[in-house]
Amino acid sequence: MTEIDEFRAEVRAWLQANCPPGARGPGQVAWGSRRIELKPDVRLWLERTAEKGWTVPTWPQEYGGAALDRDQYRILIDELKHIRARTPLTGRGVNYIGPTLLEYGDEAQKARWLPGIARGEGGWAMGYSEPGAGSDLASLNLKAVRDGDHFVLNGRKIWTSDAMDCDYIFVLARTSPDKPKHQGISLILVDMDQPGVQVRPIRLISGSSPFNETLFEDAIAPVADVVGGIDNGWTVGKRLLQFERSTHAGINVSGSQGGRTADSRLPQAIQSYAPVADGRIADADLRDRLIRIEQNGHAQRLTQQRVIEETQARAPGFASSAVKLTGALNAQEGHELILSAMGLQGVGWEGEGFAAEELEATREWLRQKALTIAGGTKEIQLNIIAKRVLGLPD
Ligand SMILES: Cc1cc2nc3c(=O)[nH]c(=O)nc-3n(C[C@H](O)[C@H](O)[C@H](O)COP(=O)(O)OP(=O)(O)OC[C@H]3O[C@@H](n4cnc5c(N)ncnc54)[C@H](O)[C@@H]3O)c2cc1C
Repeated sequence: MTEIDEFRAEVRAWLQANCPPGARGPGQVAWGSRRIELKPDVRLWLERTAEKGWTVPTWPQEYGGAALDRDQYRILIDELKHIRARTPLTGRGVNYIGPTLLEYGDEAQKARWLPGIARGEGGWAMGYSEPGAGSDLASLNLKAVRDGDHFVLNGRKIWTSDAMDCDYIFVLARTSPDKPKHQGISLILVDMDQPGVQVRPIRLISGSSPFNETLFEDAIAPVADVVGGIDNGWTVGKRLLQFERSTHAGINVSGSQGGRTADSRLPQAIQSYAPVADGRIADADLRDRLIRIEQNGHAQRLTQQRVIEETQARAPGFASSAVKLTGALNAQEGHELILSAMGLQGVGWEGEGFAAEELEATREWLRQKALTIAGGTKEIQLNIIAKRVLGLPD
């Protein structure tokens, strides 16, 4: 037996013995928030994998990882998928700020933050966007004024997903207002459990409020929690965005994203609504669209695999924009198709004429629209691809 075969056998045996039934198939996934109670099996799964270093399998052991190499990581992900195990821990801690700290944090920051992130101790929010700074992020205005060994923060962030359940937030703040706008920004870690940080929900048309406005009024953050150096936040913050986009694209090898069960419901969903004749979908147009989406999905999976294999870092650079965008467009096209197949049943909002899964399909179709806004809009990704991947002039 080769070394790698031995590793696979060990992984398989460990997973069989340690992945509880309540952590398999669709269901709750831990993302670190102390404010959300975990079901017993989900907690157990988190604790066992954290102990093994498998919540962040490629991180160094001293920071809570298992130091797996690329081949071992792939085997672990394969085996997790094989038993339909849920990813033990997800979120902005393991996927965004953790890998950014690994690249840009100093030794004290790595020792202070990474082991806790790997154990899922604390949920992280992302404080980038502001009312006047979305695509044009460098125009941000959250002020951070130094007072001894602390910064005092004043201003507001918007669209901060999940902030109501988060314990910490990483923010991009303006530390040197007199410098050119890209050069006066710092990335700062802020404890949300203080009176100077207030979270106001933004209510959506659906009634839910996953977004917030997060207000900073004389909030405090230690100077020691500036990542990558004062006024170097544009460089550090852009790298974090690549981790975000790579996570959306399924090509971030830093966290434990790969354990997610893939969405293979498309053909079944369509077949259950579209009339079938002679063993195939009767409507030729629907059939063609389904085939195209399946082909694109297959191409996307191969591209993800290739990019992961080719990238030496924990996540690729500008290529993450391309893979994120194609993944988002495929997902949106798939949901458009489901709705086309459902006909009128796909446009219900409430009422007796619609089954629960039909109402859910409509909401999911709407939710998918956000995929080409979150983490940078489609136009912004196209700009990055044009300039940084294809090398076209500005
Ligand atoms: C589901 C979701 C979750 C989010 N979560 C967070 C979060 O947790 N934290 C956070 O900080 N932010 C978050 N955001 C905010 C997100 O990053 C911004 O919405 C996004 O960057 C766009 O900014 P904006 O909304 O201000 O739109 P704008 O920047 O005002 O853009 C408006 C339109 O103009 C276009 N446009 C702008 N500039 C250009 C250009 N140069 N070239 C071509 N077209 C352009 C855009 O593509 C867009 O169509 C989230 C957004 C969504 C949808």
